[in-house]
Amino acid sequence: MKKISLLLLFILCFVSCIKDLPVEACPEDVLSLDPTIGNHNVLIVGIDGFRSDALTENITPFMYGLSSRDDVYFTPFHKTEEDTYSGPNWSSLLTGVHYYKHNVVDNSFVGSRFSTYPPFQYYLELAYQQINTFSITNWTPINTYICQQYLDYTSESTLNDSMVFQLARDLLVDSFSIAPDVFFLHFDELDAAGHSYGFSPQVSEYANTLSKIDIFVESLFNIIEEKRNDLGENWLFLIVSDHGGDGTGHGDTENPHINQTIFFSQHPDLNFTPNYITNQTDLAPTILDYMGVSSEEIDCKMDGVSIIE
Ligand SMILES: [Zn+2]
Repeated sequence: MKKISLLLLFILCFVSCIKDLPVEACPEDVLSLDPTIGNHNVLIVGIDGFRSDALTENITPFMYGLSSRDDVYFTPFHKTEEDTYSGPNWSSLLTGVHYYKHNVVDNSFVGSRFSTYPPFQYYLELAYQQINTFSITNWTPINTYICQQYLDYTSESTLNDSMVFQLARDLLVDSFSIAPDVFFLHFDELDAAGHSYGFSPQVSEYANTLSKIDIFVESLFNIIEEKRNDLGENWLFLIVSDHGGDGTGHGDTENPHINQTIFFSQHPDLNFTPNYITNQTDLAPTILDYMGVSSEEIDCKMDGVSIIE
């Protein structure tokens, strides 16, 4: 009897030890590249505090239409982290691991482990010497704490949503020598409207802010379509958010208006996994898959899966 309990104890301990192991146990191996991948590009539009039921024909005519297109993966049930602060969720989107691994538990970013779990752009920079990775954000901590160290270009000064849009448009349209190949954008005014007036499609300040962002998104999508059609560029287009909201906050982790948000992935020729509900850790593996970058280390560390079939 005693032997059995000891054995049980040993097994339990071993199981829990295994759970803690992946950090150090993951091999730091060589990245492999898919030689069939040519010049692939990615635009990720981040919209802070997007409550799913605010995606309506009236409020967001462009994104509403996009959500039902045949070449789009869309879900209004995309799962946030159990910790519904902005910091952990943007960190999980960019690193492909859950918050208990990257260890960002609030908006202070204290204790973050990005050196072990870097943003996906780190692997792209390792894999492709010439690639231009960009991040332009309204909420500066995303760049200060997550991106700055790993990407080619990150905005550092405070930008409002219109400035984020204009800068993105200029960079995409006027292809200088620093044209972005993999481009992350972040709009924050929807979250601000939610905190001031309420996160709800019934709150006019929230709805109007989202309508303004919908116009930005449409404009950016049209630029991508022109680049595809006129220049033959091969872009994956994504729209993501960190959390929803209810009342004037997003702290109640049990509330589906808060712990679910939207996720879009669009490409003219790709198939995306049907009937799958994405979560925050699926963005990074999907982008690395699209860019043809894989390794045992990535598979071992990342919690998410690629939704590209
Ligand atoms: Zn947020």
